[in-house]
Amino acid sequence: MKDATKTVTAGRKPHAHRGVVNTPVYRASTILADSLADYRAMGSARAPDALVYGRHGTPTHHSLEAALAELEGGASAHLCASGLAAITAPLLSFLSAGDHLLMADSCYSPTRRFCDGMLRRLGVETTYYDPLIGGGVRSLIQQNTRVIFMESPGSWTFEMQDVPAIAAVANDAGIWTMIDNTWATPLYFRPLEHGVDVSIQAATKYISGHADVMLGAAVASKAAESKLKRGFLELGVSVGPDDAYLAARGLRTLAVRMERHWASGLRVAEWLFAQPEVVEVIHPALPWDPGHRIWKRDFAGSSGLFAIVLRPDLSNDAALTAMCDGFELFGMGASWGGFESLITPGSPGKSRSATSWPRNGRPGGQVMRLSIGLEDPDDLIEDLRAGFERMRALGA
Ligand SMILES: *Cc1c(COP(=O)(O)O)cnc(C)c1O
Repeated sequence: MKDATKTVTAGRKPHAHRGVVNTPVYRASTILADSLADYRAMGSARAPDALVYGRHGTPTHHSLEAALAELEGGASAHLCASGLAAITAPLLSFLSAGDHLLMADSCYSPTRRFCDGMLRRLGVETTYYDPLIGGGVRSLIQQNTRVIFMESPGSWTFEMQDVPAIAAVANDAGIWTMIDNTWATPLYFRPLEHGVDVSIQAATKYISGHADVMLGAAVASKAAESKLKRGFLELGVSVGPDDAYLAARGLRTLAVRMERHWASGLRVAEWLFAQPEVVEVIHPALPWDPGHRIWKRDFAGSSGLFAIVLRPDLSNDAALTAMCDGFELFGMGASWGGFESLITPGSPGKSRSATSWPRNGRPGGQVMRLSIGLEDPDDLIEDLRAGFERMRALGA
């Protein structure tokens, strides 16, 4: 079955719900047993759709979990209340005091805050590594290294990691691997097929797709399943059924939305590349991008999130304010992957420690990140063109 078909069928059993097409919202804490024998069996139930207690999930949750596990090619999926929790809960599930973690220097900055804060306090040491290191990560492995964490591409700097090479080194050394796979979604990259143990989605982004849900998911390989499941159980991770329902609803249209994000993103990126104000477009699906070779080798498509670097003389507050304050379509705000386009300034190099990422003569870099939504790309280009004109009117 092709992926687009799976996004429609996976995890749904209408005839188990009186023919209702979408798995309904089941609200529950208590789930009643039929009999004493049934009650006793509940406690030791192992099936992924077993009903035990609300915290462990209802059919609404199980439906989304089954769909995500199928799409990522994993043994099981585990939901939590945010994408960040889907990063921290697996790390807490696999790491103990005295362990060592290798973390990509390009990681999502709240991931770094967790490593430098709570993980350090619990006695786990983190070494940040150059995301472009590939198989060279072998030289950073210590005797107590337990997890290698990847994010590809990084969500601000878009460096493509050689995931198969890193996973091969880790598997050789008996080290667990995890990846933040939010940019690609399970449709465009399937980390478990390349030897990764845990694939993480901030389902808040493309999977939900409508800027109205906070949700995370971690999908485990067969080998990682029991450890991940136990960690989530012990932590008491739990998600409201309405959020699971909305994410499942978003998932049903993921394939068509992603095609549009991909095509419109490339259109806008190519237009931006031709503008005199833009010195760099950072987008792994563009043929001249340094990450393009890996993107083409490993990924089946591209999302609509990329960054541009403006000319140094335009990276000042007056010019940026002139540009950003007049957009009609582009919104400014955290997150991405929704139907609406966003533009956000950032200095992603500021939070690096193992590598530097200078742009525009600034050590922290200065980029504008664009999340291209589902509007007509011609209208988005018009909005950007007007933004550049406001900059020019300043005499820049
Ligand atoms: C947004 C984001 C997260 C966190 O997701 P939340 O649902 O906002 O907690 C994790 N990783 C990446 C790459 C993200 O962009």
